[in-house]
Amino acid sequence: MPERAQEKAPPEACVLCRPGKGRRMENGKPDKHLSNFRKNSIGYKTGKLENGESVVFFPGQNASFAVSGEDIEPFDPAATGKPKKGEERDLYICNVCFALKPKDEFDINQKDASGRGTRRPSCQKCRSHLDLKNIPDREKKKWRKKEPRKGALFHCPVCHKHSIVGVNARIVLDHDHHRGKIRGWLCDSCNTGLGRFKNGENLLRNAVDYLETKD
Ligand SMILES: [Zn+2]
Ligand SMILES: [Zn+2]
Repeated sequence: MPERAQEKAPPEACVLCRPGKGRRMENGKPDKHLSNFRKNSIGYKTGKLENGESVVFFPGQNASFAVSGEDIEPFDPAATGKPKKGEERDLYICNVCFALKPKDEFDINQKDASGRGTRRPSCQKCRSHLDLKNIPDREKKKWRKKEPRKGALFHCPVCHKHSIVGVNARIVLDHDHHRGKIRGWLCDSCNTGLGRFKNGENLLRNAVDYLETKD
């Protein structure tokens, strides 16, 4: 694990753009026309143009825009995010669109040990885009018939570990959320691992490349 996150832009460069508009930067020059993006977008100032406009990188757009000074204000991102125990924040920054939004636009994910709900890091609007196709019932039934029985010996096709079903490992049905397709039975640990990489093969490949460059 890295000791410290790589810092690309310091926190003091962080700004809030309430109107969500600017001129897209292309090859170091701003476009003639204004573009609209998400209101209340969080960005990081990376420079200034001769006309006084700021160049702001908006991670939610994965692009930089020339923004007028009156459309941005300094913002402390550390004032949002994971709250301390017993606290609840009113505003969160979505980890997909990077818009600052009221907490009610983030679904409660699961309750922690103290019974307190934690919120999902992506806003409802972004989650509805990522969305998660349902698996057809007959497909589920077909796989349920093949469910490894409690007490049986299971071999996980990813980690190749053996486990005793329901005794020293939980076995779960792995599916591709994007295509709504079941892939098969996996140990819970591997299924969670794949989920962390958003079931995206590219991210897994990136992870392998990263690990190999560090070897
Ligand atoms: Zn969002
Ligand atoms: Zn496994």
